[in-house]
Amino acid sequence: MIVDGVIVLLQSNTGFDLYLKDCETVFFRYGQFISWEKYMILRIFLSLVITLSTSAVHAFTSDAVSCVQHQLNSAGYDAGTPDGLIGQKTKKALTEYQEKFGVLSKRPLDQDHALVFCRLLGQTKADFKQHWPTNAGMVNIVFGDLATPTKTADKLFVARIRSKVDEVHRKVQRLFGIELAAPINVLIGNSAKDVEALKKSYEPRKIIGFTNTATEICSSFKNLSATSLPNAIVLCRNGDARIGSEIDTLWLEFLIAHEFVHAYQFQLSGAIQATSDTAVLEHGGPQWLLEGAAQVIANHLATGLPLAEYRNRMLEKLDGRVPKLSDVDELSDLKARKNEVYRMGVVAISDLIPDENYSKLGQFYVELGRGNDWADAFEIVFREAVLEGQ
Ligand SMILES: [Zn+2]
Repeated sequence: MIVDGVIVLLQSNTGFDLYLKDCETVFFRYGQFISWEKYMILRIFLSLVITLSTSAVHAFTSDAVSCVQHQLNSAGYDAGTPDGLIGQKTKKALTEYQEKFGVLSKRPLDQDHALVFCRLLGQTKADFKQHWPTNAGMVNIVFGDLATPTKTADKLFVARIRSKVDEVHRKVQRLFGIELAAPINVLIGNSAKDVEALKKSYEPRKIIGFTNTATEICSSFKNLSATSLPNAIVLCRNGDARIGSEIDTLWLEFLIAHEFVHAYQFQLSGAIQATSDTAVLEHGGPQWLLEGAAQVIANHLATGLPLAEYRNRMLEKLDGRVPKLSDVDELSDLKARKNEVYRMGVVAISDLIPDENYSKLGQFYVELGRGNDWADAFEIVFREAVLEGQ
């Protein structure tokens, strides 16, 4: 229904309401509007977070920056000798290019967002893609202790991981229909110690965002756990756990699919080359959407359960304690009430894409990469879907 230019979608049976104000703002609240003042304060706060996170850029070379430099040079805009460092010449060349051909992204050219520019530039001309980082869009699997497996169980695990990672990668790629400009790194450890060693061996590139300890990452969950960082997916197997017995095959596929969605989110929105070890996806949108997207896509690919049914299962698990979306949108919420973030994410997404058009979940991150804040990106991608649902 539409009231005074305000589109209101009521999901009374789920206990959460989603309000879209006309123009560019989006408000989620349980039966009430967030005030305009509060919303603006939130926006200013978010833009500050982004500014702070991107201002602490050190001299740091990257393939993504070299990519941008090569592409600008081929287009006839002098970015200097491609050296992976962002200097005045590179910035000037990009500015001139964008003045002539239109804005690729409203984000600043820095190490955090260079990959986004590299990808967007590559899409303007097929020839430019030759400058994308090596193995763009491919998967780069790195085993630690399991690099040369000897035990039968280990060999089977390694073989299964390789085939599943490939299979899931193809499925996610097909579903999003989006080309990535960098490889997806998948690091697989066999214990906390192994994960720690993998992290070290990955220096000096660093596994960006590795703030949890390896023990936390390997916290035994169904004998195979995972975490996603801006430039890598880290999987941790519990010692001798075997595929098909201690490690459920469906779980393996679900977990890998979930993490691949995060890899897309990171690359598309532009946090992959963050230079600090504490980098997180600051402008990645609300946590319920970040995790909910990973959950619904993993469910779609691994279990094939219709979204409506998956939504009902999550509602049952919430057991009447349906949180406000605003209570599951911060990183701190993910830490404090992870299950609620995941479950509420699934419920909300099922209302955003009643047509099960999962590619929209990827498009949202493309819009973030173009420099839209999450409220604007949300409006661009989901507004139509919400209207269809009236
Ligand atoms: Zn996740």
